[in-house]
Amino acid sequence: MEERPAPKAWTANIVTLFPEAFPGVLGLSLLGKARDEGLWAYNTFDLRPYGVGKHRNVDDTPAGGGAGMVLRADVVAAAIADASAGAPQDRAKWPIIYMSPRGKPFDQAMARRFSEADGMTILCGRFEGVDQRVLDHFGIEEVSIGDFVLTGGEIAAQVLIDATVRLIPRVLGNQASTEEESFSDGLLEHPQYTRPALWEGRAIPEILQSGHHAKIEAWKRVQAERLTKERRPDLWRAWCATHNRDPDEDREL
Ligand code: SAH
Repeated sequence: MEERPAPKAWTANIVTLFPEAFPGVLGLSLLGKARDEGLWAYNTFDLRPYGVGKHRNVDDTPAGGGAGMVLRADVVAAAIADASAGAPQDRAKWPIIYMSPRGKPFDQAMARRFSEADGMTILCGRFEGVDQRVLDHFGIEEVSIGDFVLTGGEIAAQVLIDATVRLIPRVLGNQASTEEESFSDGLLEHPQYTRPALWEGRAIPEILQSGHHAKIEAWKRVQAERLTKERRPDLWRAWCATHNRDPDEDREL
């Protein structure tokens, strides 16, 4: 029989001034175990050796003036090219991402899209960010993890990788758990309980101990709807629109 090469694991190629920030939390627990098992991999590309001159400078003052420093286009481009060399040219198979507060907000749908790629190149910024020309040149997608400003892209990259890798088949022991959880169906998850059955005078809702699966499922659904309506009116309206429900209808939730 003809031998076929084993498919390569999903891989993140990370361009950063601080490679020692990795794997960080990605080396722990389920993700760390999955990496040991070869279900995903990462490589860091240290920006420093790409720097110019005796001091390997990677940044310079912003054109037009202003505070701080900007990562140089030529330096970042050389690192991005190496980090993407040999990867598929098709950006659906291999996205190139810049972690950036100006980017498209990261969400579960994006994590799913990235998890279906072969891997990706992730650029972590520092200082005031990177020269715009390098983003335009490579057609780099900007992704934000929220409306706040971090000092660097490394933590943001770890957030993105964590949410993405846990969707890769076999990374989580129990596949069903990614289908039920918050955002997968557009609703927040129902509350969770475990032993002891009575704690500080608080009992686990009776229905969860009834063994009646249909009723338990109905309860979880009502709870998920109630929480979403209370906490995230934006998600609630979107969910109602796709589920033929009136968002303002007052059911006993
Ligand atoms: N001057 C920039 C902020 C630079 S913060 C601006 O106002 O847009 C330095 C680096 O941290 C950025 O280059 C980016 O890589 C990272 N970063 C900061 N906040 C982030 C966020 N919310 N999401 C993703 N990356 C972020």
